[in-house]
Amino acid sequence: MSKLKRVLITGGAGFLGSHLCERFLGEGWEVICMDNLLTGDISNVEALFAESRFHFEHRDVTEYLHVGGDLDAILHFASPASPIDYLELPIQTLKVGSLGTHKALGLARAKGARFLLASTSECYGDPQVHPQPESYWGNVNPVGPRGVYDEAKRFAEAMTMAYHRFHGIPTRIVRIFNTYGPRMRLADGRALPAFMSQALQGLPITVFGDGSQTRSFCYVDDLVEGIWRLLHSEEAEPVNIGNPSEMTILEFARKVVELCGSSSEITFEPLPVDDPKVRQPDIRKAQALLDWEPQVDLETGLRRTLDYFRARVSAGPPPSRR
Ligand code: UDP
Repeated sequence: MSKLKRVLITGGAGFLGSHLCERFLGEGWEVICMDNLLTGDISNVEALFAESRFHFEHRDVTEYLHVGGDLDAILHFASPASPIDYLELPIQTLKVGSLGTHKALGLARAKGARFLLASTSECYGDPQVHPQPESYWGNVNPVGPRGVYDEAKRFAEAMTMAYHRFHGIPTRIVRIFNTYGPRMRLADGRALPAFMSQALQGLPITVFGDGSQTRSFCYVDDLVEGIWRLLHSEEAEPVNIGNPSEMTILEFARKVVELCGSSSEITFEPLPVDDPKVRQPDIRKAQALLDWEPQVDLETGLRRTLDYFRARVSAGPPPSRR
């Protein structure tokens, strides 16, 4: 499919980054995984150290970036990505989206590398168009608590397009919708890890608000396939990658409880500020351009994720992040 062979993945020890490291190694590439381990975890890539084509750099991508040798591609995935993380790390979130993206683009320019930005459905904010096509400009509160993530990613998209237009860098932008799978942190605070670890421990399931807000959950392998195809495409404008199968958070919580065979009760807690009321990707662009659509249904994806969470929960309480 390609002659590209050496990739830098920032945030490579995170949930998505580690799956990408694995995929690129599997495709025969040499992989440089860079992570400051703020929200990433070295255990996510531990198994990859046995592979001589895998290198780990413990580095903060917002600082001067040096990588020796050629690079064919840079995938910029470093960033806190869970609402509780970016509320707790607001300045780092803004820095990695802005300064980190600038540094990674500068490196791509110096190396003549293809650049792929991990962007997000959060660019659409609390959307007034549903489902969300790439052409929708979004409804983001720039000064709300989520603004640190949303605006950092919107800035990152603008910076990426500027490098593309001004410097002629081959850039790609993936807008990632809610994704789940093995290697999400148990205490990461997002819906799936929260519900699954609560269900497995018989704890109350914390549904925020009345649970009528909707999300559309994509299994990680489907996302990785979409990213692989987008990198090899010629599309510089943003492309949504996500699973359009939409449900309410209450339905999702019930599904997780049932699958875990748990007796946990559902409790209702306050809805976080600016929590989007609906979210569903319009994936027609990815279907047409990349011949991509999700293959893993929710039941199958949740079962695979459950195996991982069972092992983690029985291993004891999660280590603290810092
Ligand atoms: N949510 C919830 N309980 C939790 C965690 C999340 O009800 O313990 C809700 C959250 O308010 C949101 C949805 O689940 O409406 C998805 O949240 P998540 O943090 O996974 O991602 P988001 O889509 O908000 O970025």
